[in-house]
Amino acid sequence: MAHRVTLLPGDGIGPEVTDATVTVLEATGIDFDWDRHQVLGQMAVERGRPALPPDVLASIESTGVALKGPVTTPVGEGFTSVNVQLRQHLNLYANVRPCATIPGLDTRFDDVDLVIVRENIEGLYSGIEHFDERLQIADSIARVTRQGTEQILRFCFEYARRHDRERVTLAHKANILKKTSGLFLEIGREIAEDYPDITFDDRIIDALCMELVMHPDRYDCIVSTNLFGDILSDLGAGLIGGLGVTAGANVGDDHAVFEAVHGSAPDIAGQNVANPTALMKSATMMLRHLDEEAAADAIDESLLTLYREQTSLTPDVGGEASTTEFAEVVADRVADRRSA
Ligand code: NAD
Repeated sequence: MAHRVTLLPGDGIGPEVTDATVTVLEATGIDFDWDRHQVLGQMAVERGRPALPPDVLASIESTGVALKGPVTTPVGEGFTSVNVQLRQHLNLYANVRPCATIPGLDTRFDDVDLVIVRENIEGLYSGIEHFDERLQIADSIARVTRQGTEQILRFCFEYARRHDRERVTLAHKANILKKTSGLFLEIGREIAEDYPDITFDDRIIDALCMELVMHPDRYDCIVSTNLFGDILSDLGAGLIGGLGVTAGANVGDDHAVFEAVHGSAPDIAGQNVANPTALMKSATMMLRHLDEEAAADAIDESLLTLYREQTSLTPDVGGEASTTEFAEVVADRVADRRSA
């Protein structure tokens, strides 16, 4: 039976990396029934529609799974980020970003194997903001709830168990943010007691950032509140070769949206040079979510081979191939594995 998946190409480089990823997914031989929605974000607003149109939400509510390209968010004004809205409407409370060294890709370290688990709905991204025009004072509320914190902490420990990970580090700033970070840390310590098989410790966020850029091999799973987790995710991406190669997933109890860590990259949009590896790796996370392990392995191994051989890579990682050329080579390798 075909997998029904909502496909949201997004804007900027989104449609390019999405088409490339669909080419590779279809090379696995698995049947997909794509429910494609192109109109989202600015495109929707220009047509007088909400940035997150109701038909997009209804589609994900019905399929349970979406593969999503990046969507541009206006800075400082305009509509609320489509990503933030999707996460909040669908209760996609966990953002998972695996950051593992890709052999062959020239980076500062050759032994990074981190997973950043970010709380995806609360904290400073709760959307509770206020601006006092007269006093010229702006406030953003960082809301941390017991229910939301327990949910993300349990998710992280369960993820660690399922993926044979040994350690969970909680990143916080409880020395200063005694209420919000303090609650997150207190609940982290409580939940850790239910997982005696997993080592638990905590780090203050600034010190952790310094340690990560010096000794990333010392860390395993890292869990944090929304803003710290967002920043750590990009730091993790930088450790393994950049935004073009780092995958991500937004996961809730009923739905999951798989998307790359990167944004819409307006500086290279429309040039057929964007690296689709990040979205392809997000797609393999989606395949595993759909219990299609063999197909996920075929794509992951094909990607690893190309990086090891330095074949047909895109310019951001030192190659000269276009997005479409890279996709065709990956699809050929995946098809070869199928027929082997
Ligand atoms: P960005 O990730 O779009 O780009 C940062 C830099 O990385 C740029 O130089 C870009 O060319 C490069 N880059 C990113 N992805 C690449 C890829 N696949 N291949 C090669 N190079 C790549 O970040 P930004 O410029 O801060 O954000 C642009 C827009 O994207 C903003 O509107 C932002 O809100 C939005 N955004 C969306 C998402 C999402 O939809 N999930 C995530 C992050 C940012």
